[in-house]
Amino acid sequence: MAKLSDPVTVLKGVGPSRAKQFAQLNILTLEDLICHFPRGYEDRTKLVTISQLEPDVPACFKAMVMNTPRVNHIRKGLDITRVQVADSTARLNITFFNQKFAAEQLHYGEEYIFYGAVSGDYAGYNMPSPSFEALDAPAVNTRRVLPIYPLTAGLSNTILLKTVRQALAICDPPKEILPPEIREQFGILPAERAYYAIHEPQSLQEAEAARKRMIFEEFFVFSAGLSLMRAARGMKKTKPYENRDLRDFYGALPFQLTGAQQRAISQIMEDFGKGAPMNRLVQGDVGSGKTMVAAAAAFCAARNGKQTAFMAPTEILAEQHCKSLEALFAPLGVSVTLLTGSMTQKEKRLTRERIAAGQVDVTVGTHALLTESTVFSDLGLVIADEQHRFGVAQRSKLSEKGEDPHLLVMSATPIPRTLALLMYGDLEVSILDERPPGREDVDTFLVGESYRPRINAFIRKHVSQGHQCFVVCPAVEENEELDVKSATVWADTLQKTVFPDLRIALLHGQMKGAEKEAVMASFAAGQADVLVATTVIEVGVDVPNATLMVIEDADRFGLSQLHQLRGRVGRGQAKSYCIMTTHNRNPDTIQRLKALCKTTDGFKIAEEDLRLRGPGDFFGSRQSGLPAFRVGDLSIDLATLHQAQEASAQWIDTQGTLDTPEAQNLRQRISALFQRAEGTMN
Ligand code: ADP
Ligand code: MG
Repeated sequence: MAKLSDPVTVLKGVGPSRAKQFAQLNILTLEDLICHFPRGYEDRTKLVTISQLEPDVPACFKAMVMNTPRVNHIRKGLDITRVQVADSTARLNITFFNQKFAAEQLHYGEEYIFYGAVSGDYAGYNMPSPSFEALDAPAVNTRRVLPIYPLTAGLSNTILLKTVRQALAICDPPKEILPPEIREQFGILPAERAYYAIHEPQSLQEAEAARKRMIFEEFFVFSAGLSLMRAARGMKKTKPYENRDLRDFYGALPFQLTGAQQRAISQIMEDFGKGAPMNRLVQGDVGSGKTMVAAAAAFCAARNGKQTAFMAPTEILAEQHCKSLEALFAPLGVSVTLLTGSMTQKEKRLTRERIAAGQVDVTVGTHALLTESTVFSDLGLVIADEQHRFGVAQRSKLSEKGEDPHLLVMSATPIPRTLALLMYGDLEVSILDERPPGREDVDTFLVGESYRPRINAFIRKHVSQGHQCFVVCPAVEENEELDVKSATVWADTLQKTVFPDLRIALLHGQMKGAEKEAVMASFAAGQADVLVATTVIEVGVDVPNATLMVIEDADRFGLSQLHQLRGRVGRGQAKSYCIMTTHNRNPDTIQRLKALCKTTDGFKIAEEDLRLRGPGDFFGSRQSGLPAFRVGDLSIDLATLHQAQEASAQWIDTQGTLDTPEAQNLRQRISALFQRAEGTMN
């Protein structure tokens, strides 16, 4: 027997070059292979007769070869092999394209199982390139429920089928980690059966049961891990902040806080008084004023002699936050400093010295703040802006920095309530569901290509009024497969043929970090009129002078993503607009996009997105800050998710601890998942 940790090269037929192909799919060991789950199935169990074949509907049938296959060389690169087959009901002509081996493998007078579809395009049945197997050959592509695997260049589905089968034959699948009571209560297949069944199901129902088990298991492990983190932090002690008087802070604000902001702040003050580290998420739509909530927390920490590390996802955002906090805090005697990678070595060293000496209250920077060699004299509070870049793994590492600092994460990604609990199971949540007064909604329109002249005129109008525009494209470069606008080409076209007199800038994810920052900074400083970009601009950038957002091929984006993009405008006093273009005529797509024109409530939009696309997209997207789930490819249903969560809560409740020998496998799986999470983030 082989071990799960053995490399795939222990398998027959897997040498170094094949192993490289498997590595493309992140498959290095037998365990990786066995955990490479199909993304779907085709039911090829049923046999039909030739006369029952329906045009364009693939099916399995048994037939005898009625002549010796003939190969015709048509031209270079095109060989056609023709053969006639029959069963007791009908005859059928089969044509293979560039599959000369078919002529060698199909013998006159013998029976085979075929799988294919007849084409209905001309009189007389014809079937192009079916799969076929001899009656006594093992069922690989016919007579079974066929798993369809995620593939990569050089690795066909058949190769995966055979290698997975071989792996399962020489080693035991991963051990059971779910307690028997839980399996029974929720009707979950045992591990061993599930691993075989997910790869070699007897029926679609069995495949479904196996898939459900894998999803259940993964989310059970994840929820249990979050609960453990929460419990572990709950055990920790810190000194409560005695001074929670915010009157000076409120007095310095240029505006009145919204009710939602006040509620969030008082929840934070309560946390600060408790004597245990705070773990709080502030969730609020773009423009709901999260920064002020964070500022209140930093102010309170400073009044209690504690330092704050304020982390933004990009340097430019860090600079923005630093500026606005400096302005606010200067009269209050709270000192603010910036620490980013693009500062000179000397500047960084001097800043670090001041931080270590306790001369700085609030340090604003990127996530490097925590990972680099920054030593705080007394770090009391860590604030992470834009939560989706600050994942579970980073959260779990935080307490290593300083004396268990309080943690405040802020997210502008509205997560449907149904998922929030699962994703943030280790955090308390405050929701900012109110916008500062006087903000007008961004008017949103969905238009077709015929509106192009009007869009161009609209862009020109905004620019001539001294405002700026964003134009977002779904792709970076021209792509033959996807007929969508690319930022690079579109920026060029706009500059050369449409707006030769305007300043067009380009921003996309394939540019280097420093280059991106420079483009963004110059746009923010008003040095470009139109910024053509990919979704890299999605996160938090504040350019109040930008009043128009054009989103090309909007059907390529998810609703929540479109909503985030739209949030880049409408941040100043001037009326702002969002124009989405699409070529797509699918009524469902149009309806989906129209939902965005009707509402600006991020939570409603997220719920709608969840309803339309399922939770898979939330967990699949790397921005979620979640670990890479193995079942991410499988469509995840909410019901299973909820069950897994309920089960883990129930289990942790009744067990109290996972220190028992029975829970050892579960503990290992939790740490493996969270370790993988670290690898996949930043
Ligand atoms: P986000 O939640 O997207 O991070 P910000 O904190 O950047 O939002 O706030 C957006 C803008 O609204 C900022 O210019 C901020 O100064 C302003 N703002 C925040 N709270 C209020 C308020 N209560 N009244 C008026 N303006 C506010
Ligand atoms: Mg913000």
